[in-house]
Amino acid sequence: MLKGKTAVVTGSTSGIGLGIAHRLAAQGANILLNGFGDKEDIAKILKNLQDTYGIRADHSPANMLKSAEIREMVAMAHTKFGSLDILVNNAGIQFTGPTDGYPEEKWNSIIEINLSACFHAITAALPGMKKNNYGRIINIASVHGLVASANKCAYVAAKHGLVGLTKVVAIENAEQDITCNAICPGWVKTPLVDKQVADRAEQDGISIEEATKTMLGEKQPSKTFTHVEQLGDLAVFLCGDAASNMTGVSLPMDGGWTAQ
Ligand code: NAD
Repeated sequence: MLKGKTAVVTGSTSGIGLGIAHRLAAQGANILLNGFGDKEDIAKILKNLQDTYGIRADHSPANMLKSAEIREMVAMAHTKFGSLDILVNNAGIQFTGPTDGYPEEKWNSIIEINLSACFHAITAALPGMKKNNYGRIINIASVHGLVASANKCAYVAAKHGLVGLTKVVAIENAEQDITCNAICPGWVKTPLVDKQVADRAEQDGISIEEATKTMLGEKQPSKTFTHVEQLGDLAVFLCGDAASNMTGVSLPMDGGWTAQ
């Protein structure tokens, strides 16, 4: 379905981004990975994608804190693969703590990576997409783009901002088969959440298993994690013809979190 298309997935050396890269590759898209990690591990991911799906894959080391490197990443997609058809803005970080006393440097880096980097990638990608009259921009926001939780001021502000950016980009490009949508996951078991579970276990003096149960129970009515493959399949749907007139929406996949 996506043969000949090129997808850039930011923050795809781990977690949700890697899951989305696999599902897009399974549909035939060439993949430009991005994110941090050990050189050998990244080489293994690239080989696995190439061997499993018969696609081309490469890695951009762009740091999402640096707009010039983000532009280089987009340019690399054009040089290596000839186009950038699908942009998945996924890279993200988290830091939790009360707003009163929240460290300024954490605020700045969360806004930079979780929101501003998406703006830089979108502005770099749009000219090529307009030329081709095709583009799929998928922003990985969060339930925290729709509702708030305590102790996450920067993350909630960045994700609400990303939902707003999604709408503006959608309406500005709606006539050119360029869609822009957001996916809003609830709890997904990835290293980003493992850290929050470990912090909670330590704070409450309970086991990892108990902390997991408590955290899911507090927010996610299904009481189960969403899997990265399920988010990958939603991204594939958004890239297909069935979703060509679906733009500017923010889709929760959250076990009922935001229905409450
Ligand atoms: P993760 O920690 O497993 O992966 C984050 C990825 O981003 C990694 O590949 C990392 O190398 C990359 N990254 C971090 N800083 C970077 C930088 N400065 N430049 C380039 N790459 C950088 O996290 P995840 O849980 O897979 O999260 C992915 C996205 O999904 C994030 O935007 C997160 O906010 C969002 N999200 C996650 C959950 C969840 O429950 N895990 C829920 C909702 C939304």
